[in-house]
Amino acid sequence: MNWLNLKELRASAEPQIVERKGKQEYHIPVATYPHPNPPERICCLAGVLKRHDKVKVRYRDRRIEPMPTVLIVERQRYKCHHCGAIVLEAMDADLDHKWYITHRFKRELQLASVKRNFQDAANLNGVDDSYIIRLFDEFATEKLEHYHTNLPEVLGVDENNLLGGMRFVAADLETGQILDLLPVRTEAAVMAFFAELHWKFYVKVFVQDMWRGYRNVAEQMFPKALNIVDKFHVVRMANDGMADARKWYQTKLENEDRRSLKNKHRMFLARWDGMHSTSQDTLAEILEDHPFLNDAYVWKERFYMIYDSATRAEAEKEYDRLVATMPPHLKRFYRPLTTSMKNWQPQIFNHFEMPERWTNNMTENLNGRLNQINSMARGMTFDRFRKKAILRFGKIIPNNELAVYSGDPNDDPRQIGFGWDVSTLERALKNGRF
Ligand SMILES: [Zn+2]
Repeated sequence: MNWLNLKELRASAEPQIVERKGKQEYHIPVATYPHPNPPERICCLAGVLKRHDKVKVRYRDRRIEPMPTVLIVERQRYKCHHCGAIVLEAMDADLDHKWYITHRFKRELQLASVKRNFQDAANLNGVDDSYIIRLFDEFATEKLEHYHTNLPEVLGVDENNLLGGMRFVAADLETGQILDLLPVRTEAAVMAFFAELHWKFYVKVFVQDMWRGYRNVAEQMFPKALNIVDKFHVVRMANDGMADARKWYQTKLENEDRRSLKNKHRMFLARWDGMHSTSQDTLAEILEDHPFLNDAYVWKERFYMIYDSATRAEAEKEYDRLVATMPPHLKRFYRPLTTSMKNWQPQIFNHFEMPERWTNNMTENLNGRLNQINSMARGMTFDRFRKKAILRFGKIIPNNELAVYSGDPNDDPRQIGFGWDVSTLERALKNGRF
């Protein structure tokens, strides 16, 4: 009976639980039962191979019992009566002879090494960390050997603090998939990266932060693409202005007032519409008592509202009006923002040129947290990190493959592997599964 569900190997005797190096293993004797396969190669021109003896070799397979499962493979040996060579029985359908493992278990381990952190992948499958990492390296090298970034229509560039350094990240903002990472973010490195890629004309939208290097890259590499400065990088500066205004104002207050304001500093950064009504009441009270903060908060909120504009013209008009009517005492706090608005005016308002309002928010959300997780992951070099990120959140392995082999009931198969989907990623990071 073929209960092992292998292609050509059959159990040749009852499985046994065996003690080995102080640990239990589940041993299943198997063979190409009832007849051995032909020899795996021809030894010489005469090639008179006759059955010789049999050897037993260990191959790991997926777990059946909650302990490592080992196939004790009985393999026929042939001896040549002409040249004397010993040749093994062919046995490639189920077994990987380099790793001494079944093909199906190897596949599971490879996907586990992409989907989980190395330690979990190792523990769950009863193999060593170093074995998983070596398997991952081989798998990733194989998969990425001919990997070539296909440029998307909507390209997002950003940087993340990963493994103790700022790393360049390129993503397809339409699908949320990661395209590639570079160990550094310098203009030369980013320029060289894009210079090698084909089909640059395919990029219609280039979304970036306010770094001049990216603007140069966009101008040189994607002159026809719409260059958009990411909304979140802009409104963050409005929040910074608000925070600076509040801090300055606080220093003018008596101790008690200062302390009570300090405790509520997050409120000033929150959007009014997103606040719970009780928070709105608290904030309204504070703003009534402190007209200076009221002015700063209202200005910040109105700045945010520019992004609700229906058209570019409307947004530009509203911004001009906001600047013209800014209370003079606020100017110095919002100067970094207004200066950036001046320097990046075309790119910032390009936001309104596309029916879809593209932002880099997906990649931005990862900042910091990735680093926290990765620094803990054993054996995680930048090269491995890059490969893992592309395999896990890129376009190489179909989503359903990463989902099917998960075996984790907490994973919603519909979400797994869907690129930089924030909820999936956050969950993965929180659970230490990156
Ligand atoms: Zn021979």
